[in-house]
Amino acid sequence: MTKIKTLLILGTRPEVIKLAPVYFALAQSEEFNPLIINTGQHRDLARDFLTRFNLTAAYDLEVMIENQSLTYLTSEIISRLEKVMIKEQPDLVLVQGDTTSALGGALSAFYHQVSLGHVEAGLRTGKKYNPFPEEMNRLLISKLADWHFAPTSGARNNLLQEGIEREKVLVTGNTIVDALLQVLAKNLPFHNEILSREVSKGKEKIVTVTAHRRENWEKGIEEVAQALRILGEKFKEVKIFFPLHPNPLVREKILPYLSSCTRVFLLEPLDYFDFVKLLSQSTLLITDSGGVQEESSALGVPVLITRDFTERPEVMKAGLGYLVGCNREKIVGLATRFLKEKRTQKSQPIFGDGRASWRIVQALRYFFGLDSREIEEFIST
Ligand code: UDP
Repeated sequence: MTKIKTLLILGTRPEVIKLAPVYFALAQSEEFNPLIINTGQHRDLARDFLTRFNLTAAYDLEVMIENQSLTYLTSEIISRLEKVMIKEQPDLVLVQGDTTSALGGALSAFYHQVSLGHVEAGLRTGKKYNPFPEEMNRLLISKLADWHFAPTSGARNNLLQEGIEREKVLVTGNTIVDALLQVLAKNLPFHNEILSREVSKGKEKIVTVTAHRRENWEKGIEEVAQALRILGEKFKEVKIFFPLHPNPLVREKILPYLSSCTRVFLLEPLDYFDFVKLLSQSTLLITDSGGVQEESSALGVPVLITRDFTERPEVMKAGLGYLVGCNREKIVGLATRFLKEKRTQKSQPIFGDGRASWRIVQALRYFFGLDSREIEEFIST
């Protein structure tokens, strides 16, 4: 039997994390021949993460240049993908989420009339420019996709409201929970020297922080840094770990406030295995990242979301997430509450049970006519 040649097009850290379990699930099935295409949008990060998951890209398009504009990025991705499409003649393209690589992959699939599946479909803030360019990227991908794998029923409803046909949308959970559970099950020691020295379970309260959104680069990030400084001075039994985004602009804004704080540890971007271990031992998360909110929900860690809008309202509804903008007072106030209170963390299955990738593969088998059972019947288990 000829296998269904499937290109998984990715280019950034979260795409590697969220597509790795899909790749493994496809590779395990006899019927698919999955190939990874790395656009290189995040040159080093995506490569390092692929290596960490023992994955190799069949093509590395190396699009990244310094100060790349969105126009450059989009056009280079589409043009370099064209050669891959012509050579490989795939049966199926999978993209994930809302990056420029995902949009480029979706457009390329459309131009070459290849079936397109969208993993993590249906997230919306309803604000054209927030987050920018991701909100428009995901809307456009939804228009181009043939099959939509929604992480939650809320995301599914968003798609149905936009007129996407009901039978093309499936709630699968988010594949990040698959990755998280698989990695935590390995129970590896910390690889990062600072973490292995400074984190001793149960002895201190840990706050994990990440910040990378474009909307916050100008000003917001400085307020977050000021809030962390106040918290570091106020709580003697708290350690704050902040893996910094590689972008030098983000670093320039943060360092003046935090480089001399003894309880704030500024780190290089962490290896995924270290990051999720750190998060699993945290009392609180402060972040503007989407993926990290999904992971913290699965672990039951409360999160202060340093944004004005969210496409993951489920985290707030579950009582785990608080939208605080980049407001110093709100961050300090709420963080103080969480650091003082005694609470047991209770994981919330908002983003699934760790079997999203399996459901996606079953759904694809069905779409390609390889399984005749009614789809709801076998993916609901
Ligand atoms: N992450 C990581 N190391 C770090 C910071 C984050 O491995 O130092 C992982 C994190 O576990 C999550 C993903 O990166 O799975 C989130 O990526 P990012 O915040 O860049 O993107 P977003 O999720 O906002 O699209």
